[in-house]
Amino acid sequence: MSHPNVLDYLDNPSPRTLGRSPLEWLDRMQKPTVVRVAGRDPSRTRAMATLLHGNEPSGLFALHRWLLEQHTPEVNMLFLIAGVYPAKIPPTFSLRQLPSGRDLNRCFKEPFDGEEGAIAEAMLAELHRANPECVLDVHNTSGTGPAFAVTITNDAAHQALASLYTDRLIMTDLRLGALMEYSEQEVPTVTIECGGAHDDHAHELAYDGLVRYASRPDVLSLEKADWDVAVLRNPIRVELAPDATIEYSLEPTGRADITLPPDIEHRNFGVISPGEPLGWIGKRGLGILTAIGHNQTENMEKVLRVEDGQIYPAQAIRTFMITTNPVIAKSDCLFYAVKATGEPIF
Ligand SMILES: [Zn+2]
Repeated sequence: MSHPNVLDYLDNPSPRTLGRSPLEWLDRMQKPTVVRVAGRDPSRTRAMATLLHGNEPSGLFALHRWLLEQHTPEVNMLFLIAGVYPAKIPPTFSLRQLPSGRDLNRCFKEPFDGEEGAIAEAMLAELHRANPECVLDVHNTSGTGPAFAVTITNDAAHQALASLYTDRLIMTDLRLGALMEYSEQEVPTVTIECGGAHDDHAHELAYDGLVRYASRPDVLSLEKADWDVAVLRNPIRVELAPDATIEYSLEPTGRADITLPPDIEHRNFGVISPGEPLGWIGKRGLGILTAIGHNQTENMEKVLRVEDGQIYPAQAIRTFMITTNPVIAKSDCLFYAVKATGEPIF
């Protein structure tokens, strides 16, 4: 089913159309927007989606800058600017999704219900029509922290795409209805997490990566065979029970089920040894947390343990996407973890 008028279209937009700033451009957008730019080799297309989450602007900032510079890309480029509706709600770029809406990056599978489902379905239809050789989906992380890529396939083409931005690659067999699952259509698809939404380095990386993505004749072969990538496989998601409370504090106040230090984000991608405390657990114990692997098993004993009210890793682990945003911690997940070696915990 196609949904007419779900998307707006801009072909080879001029600087006048774009406005002087990304904010001015966003102001002019009325809907999720498709931008098409003709390349030197019109027989091929590369796609990039961004702003799937309305509070993750690095990809849009990069695209605006790149379009203003009026580059001619190596191949045709198809850009999908997704979360225009939540992004426009003041204060601009503050909402991941509409207050009553669904997370768009969980909607790329049937049934395509509601407004977000219709947007996801229309974006997939654009991808099918354009038949791109690859797809990138550019995001920001909720906190600060280094960039990384996420994929459901770890082959040379996916590694090559990730290497345009970062040397950290997370491979997951978990299927959530994310756009990167488009890889299953035989089109290499990689999610890029550029770093924090308010981090200038993340905006720079999004731009530099886009320049590489649009200008290289070949983005699906690794430039150097010795690319030093850290692959983290099948991380488990540690989630908080819906009724549990979380606080970020240097010591527990006794009012929350779990307390994490405010600088917990510094643990992102580092190895945490079994002797290093992560935070504090309340009277309800670890039962307020779940650790879910890609095969939907649950085995908290292999991830965390409690000693004198403090939380420790049950073995040396590597954690990432630790958030200090209590809304994300409650609605999405607290953090992801693998063994220190990068192998799955279970
Ligand atoms: Zn995101």
